[in-house]
Amino acid sequence: LDLDLKSGELLGSPTNFEVRYTDLAGRIARLETPHGVIETPAFVPVVHPVHQSVSPKFLKSLGFDAIITNAYIALEHYGDIARKRGIHGIVNFDGVVMTDSGGYQVLEYGSINVNASTIAQFEKDIRSDICVPLDKPTGYGLDYHTAKNHVEQTLTNAKDTLSLVLENSNESEISRQDGAHEPIWAGPVQGAEHFDLVRYSASELDKMGYTIMALGSPVEIMETYEFSILAQMIASAKSVVPTKPIHLFGAGHPLTIPLAVALGCDMFDSASYMLYAKDDRYMHANGTARLEDLSYLTCHCAVCTKYSSPKELFDSNKEIRTIEIAKHNLYILKTELNTVKQAILDGRLWEYVIQKSRAHPKLMESIEILKDSNLLGPGTPIFKQRAIFFYDPLDQHRPEALHFRKMVSGFISTKSDGGQGKLILYPDSSVHPFYATRDFKKLAKKFPEAQICTYNRFLGIIPSEISDIFPAAHNLSAKLTTYQANNYNTFVESLKEFLTKNEFEEIIILADQFMKNIITNNKSVLKKFNTKVFDRVGDITSVP
Ligand SMILES: [Zn+2]
Repeated sequence: LDLDLKSGELLGSPTNFEVRYTDLAGRIARLETPHGVIETPAFVPVVHPVHQSVSPKFLKSLGFDAIITNAYIALEHYGDIARKRGIHGIVNFDGVVMTDSGGYQVLEYGSINVNASTIAQFEKDIRSDICVPLDKPTGYGLDYHTAKNHVEQTLTNAKDTLSLVLENSNESEISRQDGAHEPIWAGPVQGAEHFDLVRYSASELDKMGYTIMALGSPVEIMETYEFSILAQMIASAKSVVPTKPIHLFGAGHPLTIPLAVALGCDMFDSASYMLYAKDDRYMHANGTARLEDLSYLTCHCAVCTKYSSPKELFDSNKEIRTIEIAKHNLYILKTELNTVKQAILDGRLWEYVIQKSRAHPKLMESIEILKDSNLLGPGTPIFKQRAIFFYDPLDQHRPEALHFRKMVSGFISTKSDGGQGKLILYPDSSVHPFYATRDFKKLAKKFPEAQICTYNRFLGIIPSEISDIFPAAHNLSAKLTTYQANNYNTFVESLKEFLTKNEFEEIIILADQFMKNIITNNKSVLKKFNTKVFDRVGDITSVP
């Protein structure tokens, strides 16, 4: 049967997600829902269906266009009232409402007494915009067998939900054409630190036709600061479903947002703003702090400017204080989201994620995943408006650098002269492009037959003919002496490849300290050539 094709349409059309800008695997996109369009990446605050200490109206005023609430609690507490008034009426929010199924309650209490079809039908009845089938979260720390069991149960629920959605759509073809409310269904991806289960789970949900992947439940992974596991979990889901939107459940720590966006997450929900506030935890750009430990309020949001000191806020009544901190925390989350979006537009997401990673060693460990070019390459623009910045050896793995080296690997010099020619290697400077510099003109005059190239520890060998191509002419490098030449293995590869594809007889090198170390450490690479190494350009141009 054509179940796949049909379910794909019914679970929300793939065309309702329009990507506008990308950098790394991050993207700015528009997601269309029955209650309007949201721009992603979006933070989706968790709102309790019964008790709301921060009003959804306030959330809207801060620019949160979508909220998420719990369908299971709404069912238990309101039942038919919710069916009649709709979830938007219940929570008093006219924007996009996503409903979680109750999976979190499963995690907390072991099981809940409803089945997948009941919850799915209820989510439809209350006219939720984005629905999640009942899932069984894997949390963190389950053995493989148990985790697999949770994944299978979640997939079975997802299938049951799917047949309910299909069944209803056959019955109510007319009401559908009337523009009846058709929600988007998000498939709950489970598996946690068992990455093959994450891939399996995502792939099965993708095949069923789910249009959003909702990646569960990293709360415990984040609480233990296992950011590296979180990163690999996201990368696993993304590798299987690269184009569909990815929602990350329970991701409300300000530190994790830039990395998660860079790896391809489009939406995040969390109750952290409130949970932290209850605990007097004050969010800031680099993490959280206990209010009583602070001497200064480091934020100037509408809440913080009301108080002259952390103490004044801390001395206020507990209930008021909790709401004030929660509101401040929301400002911080919103600021983080906007900063990440601006970084995508500026083509500086790589720089931003790395900058951020300095906030915690565990976060720093996790950014090694940025070396995964299959994950980050496709979304990174080949040309950018602004120069990119290179700092340390990790930056040689930037998709832009990788792309450039790949291009150079196809470069065939017209000046190798059947192995009789001369190659000149010259250190890259901050003056670009090289072919327009005085040094180049001097060299070209003296050696009109030679192939002239610059070298750059991050980009490898740069033939002068293409020294104006991005990012050869659009980068600034910090030439830190802290790092050894052998930290730049891509440079050695680039040099070797260039010398293999283009045979020369003589190589003239103006060597800076980096190049001298490369020569010392890689004698065999240059052995078969007549190699002359110089310290100053004047020495080269006086070669007879
Ligand atoms: Zn503030």
